[in-house]
Amino acid sequence: MTAKHIEKVRVRFAPSPTGHWHVGGVRTTLFNWLFARKQGGVFILRIEDTDAERSKKEYEAEILEMLAWLGLDYDEGPGKGNLGPYRQSERTALYEKYLAKLLEEHRAYYCYCSKEELEAERQALLAQGMPAKYGGHCRNLKNPPAGKKPEVIRFKTPEVEIEFKDLIRGKVKFDAALFGDFVIAKDVHSPLYNFAVVVDDHEMQISHVIRGEEHLSNTPKQILMQKAMGLAEPIYGHLPLILDGERKKLSKRYAETSLLEYRERGFLPGAILNFLALLGWHPSHDKEVFTLKELIQEFDLSRVQKAGAVFNEKKLLWLNREHLRKLSEEEIAKFLDPFLKKKNLTPNSEMLRGLIRLERDRIRTFSEFSESAGLFFSLPDYPSSLLNWKDSPKEETKQMISSLKECFAPLTEKKFTREGIMAALRNLIETKGKGNVLWPLRAALSGQMASPDPLDIASILGKTETLRRLEIALKKI
Ligand code: GLU
Repeated sequence: MTAKHIEKVRVRFAPSPTGHWHVGGVRTTLFNWLFARKQGGVFILRIEDTDAERSKKEYEAEILEMLAWLGLDYDEGPGKGNLGPYRQSERTALYEKYLAKLLEEHRAYYCYCSKEELEAERQALLAQGMPAKYGGHCRNLKNPPAGKKPEVIRFKTPEVEIEFKDLIRGKVKFDAALFGDFVIAKDVHSPLYNFAVVVDDHEMQISHVIRGEEHLSNTPKQILMQKAMGLAEPIYGHLPLILDGERKKLSKRYAETSLLEYRERGFLPGAILNFLALLGWHPSHDKEVFTLKELIQEFDLSRVQKAGAVFNEKKLLWLNREHLRKLSEEEIAKFLDPFLKKKNLTPNSEMLRGLIRLERDRIRTFSEFSESAGLFFSLPDYPSSLLNWKDSPKEETKQMISSLKECFAPLTEKKFTREGIMAALRNLIETKGKGNVLWPLRAALSGQMASPDPLDIASILGKTETLRRLEIALKKI
């Protein structure tokens, strides 16, 4: 059968829950999702958990949680009114039916070769410089060999050339003679990946299979099985590899970085989606900052490149900052909440507002926020030398801190605003100079070499805490 007539776009994301959900998988999901939403199609989530040993419920739960966090919804699931996901482990009866048919039609067969026999065959082929494929020992057995049990089920691979038109890579050809009779199931109840995918893509009427380039070599095998079972062929599109800064395949450090980790580091879901959308796809103009809605409008599979896409974390940080800028104070407060809680920081709402106004343009992620906000909650320990402006003598610094206290004394808590503080310090700054006044104040309030403006810090800390910190400074000198 040739490529099916597409009545409706139906795509799927088919993760194997065998580890944390990493950025490559998230990008595949996003491209499928954007394509479905743009085309008014259906996006299906299918958990590929046929490998019972490696598949873990907690990884599946992580995928579901992260999808919800990203705002990528899916449309169908098994059972009436029961939104998915589909799980391959719950569909074994279906695979059995297809496997039995292939066996009956002699398009697949039981293989009795032991691991040791296969390994010996492999070594012999390699020694002769030949490709190590199965030689077909059990292909035409009339009867099971005495005393042996079936080990696996193999597909009878025809020696043909397989060609398909990849949406992203154009024409792709494979010589199936090189595959040998590959294994499609351990037994009728335990299909392997390539077989279960073919059955599911058919049963779920998938129109387009969009997945990472690492699956390219699986595609001809899947097409061969579709042909053997008389199933229509979906349209394939293989997304480019994700590369690191040196254009090598993304190192483990990033490739296996889970999305969870990015969430914990304080990235916004919208920024992550924006960043991943640009990993291989280019809009038709220079714009780089997109909301998810805009991505749906602009996304176009024909603008996905085949060359590898470089993962640049600096760009992600930049995009996060751009997305952060667009949030309201309320939205930032909501995102910030878990980060502050984790650090046991509990600002009242007035202080939180002040902090957000002060930090929102300085920080790139929420974890940076909770780190730089720390000084508002507890004064770090610092050496007394930090208080001295340039080479001012200690005595002058001490005098200055006392003057600062005096200037602040008449202000009420209510008047202790940036403007009120500035007015109170105006004379002192005019006579002593900016650096002499503001440096010791900043050092005493923050205990750090670099920090926000001292007037901002003082106004957020309030009068009582400001005076307490000046007192600590005095005692240090
Ligand atoms: N389960 C496969 C994986 O996690 C994806 C299979 C597919 O998209 O066809 O890599």
